[in-house]
Amino acid sequence: MTAAATPPSQPVLILGGGLMGLAVAHQLARRGRSVLVLSRRRSEAAGFVAAGMLAPHAEGLGGALLALGQASLGRIPAWVAEIEADSGLGCGLRPCGIVVPFATAAERDAYPTAAWGTALDRSALEREIPGIGPLWQAGLLFEQDGQIDNRRQLMRALERACVQRGVRFEEGSEVLELITTGRTSPAAASAPAAGTSTPPPTPGPRLEAVRLRRADGSTLSLPCRQAVLACGAWSARLLPQLPVYPVKGQMLSLQGPIGALPRVVFGPGTYLVPREDGLLVVGATSEAEAGFSEGLTPCGQRRLEQGIAALLPAASGWPPMERWWGFRPCTPDEGPLLGPGPIGGLWLATGHHRNGVLLAALSAELVAGGISGEASPGAGEHLEAFRWDRF
Ligand SMILES: Cc1cc2nc3c(=O)[nH]c(=O)nc-3n(C[C@H](O)[C@H](O)[C@H](O)COP(=O)(O)OP(=O)(O)OC[C@H]3O[C@@H](n4cnc5c(N)ncnc54)[C@H](O)[C@@H]3O)c2cc1C
Repeated sequence: MTAAATPPSQPVLILGGGLMGLAVAHQLARRGRSVLVLSRRRSEAAGFVAAGMLAPHAEGLGGALLALGQASLGRIPAWVAEIEADSGLGCGLRPCGIVVPFATAAERDAYPTAAWGTALDRSALEREIPGIGPLWQAGLLFEQDGQIDNRRQLMRALERACVQRGVRFEEGSEVLELITTGRTSPAAASAPAAGTSTPPPTPGPRLEAVRLRRADGSTLSLPCRQAVLACGAWSARLLPQLPVYPVKGQMLSLQGPIGALPRVVFGPGTYLVPREDGLLVVGATSEAEAGFSEGLTPCGQRRLEQGIAALLPAASGWPPMERWWGFRPCTPDEGPLLGPGPIGGLWLATGHHRNGVLLAALSAELVAGGISGEASPGAGEHLEAFRWDRF
């Protein structure tokens, strides 16, 4: 299979050291593969931006994306246990449940994932979220959804777990170009894992090398037969045929009293994510029109503050802590691009839009399992549903 086609001396290259790159690198290393992560700038990764909600039901997902999210949610406890065992660091997983508030019971009952939640009336809503604003008369409680402290814990634990498993990193290395040969040798191509329904790669270009610029400014070509494109919102810059574009999100945090908010509140346009120590992470704007424009805007921050006042009025008086922003990697149907890409030997783990933290556990397993020829149950259907050329 694929593993045999790659000389052991040549590592699998991970293009992008954000959440998906780290998660795939870790799973490959756990499968005994040699891995090198090429990371342009760790601090710009959306993995350090996200609120860390694990929310397939609260987000109202549907179809194959809901199935992927539910399967990933189920995988998360074991995935976190692997990361914590390898790194010796906690990831901050909190299965605290998520409440979605509504102005009316009719809106609640029409929510796409209502069947997976517990219906709340106003008094039940007040019991779940003490101090919730008066606008909200109904709610759905999704006990199975939760959160993880990606920003302060998960990302660092993943980095450490990778290092402990022998993954090498080149921080400050920007991949400038994918260098290919004109045709694919089927034997050498990244064939799908046995038992999956993903079709074999069609003849076409095959990965030979990547050209990169190192932190010291030097450029070079690094030969490679297998790589994983995990460049997040920037993925289409390397491979323009990928329909991935940035959706900017602004965030802020407040310091609340410990335990003041027992569950995540997922309101329309604003959500409140309470960490164990009382930090309240508040998100997020959704600005597709902003492109890659950096920085906070008064309008975006005001929207978040208005959202806080509507959801939990008392929190408007909590001390402000931080404000930040980042770029979600979005696709036309808001689902990820997973599996073999348009170039032989190149796998994709990108386009996770607003659910990348939720989906990282299963995405890493699907991609690392596919590259290593170890298909997990159901892998074929997920890879088929999230092929890059499905649009
Ligand atoms: C405001 C906001 C809130 C979010 N909240 C949640 C949430 O609550 N729950 C959830 O599940 N998801 C959430 N997400 C989504 C989640 O953060 C992303 O889906 C996920 O981080 C995507 O991971 P990634 O590895 O694809 O991209 P990133 O984490 O962005 O990493 C991409 C990395 O690739 C690097 N890179 C890019 N180009 C190159 C190149 N040419 N060469 C080398 N390196 C390169 C970049 O430097 C970057 O470090 C949120 C996102 C945002 C922005």
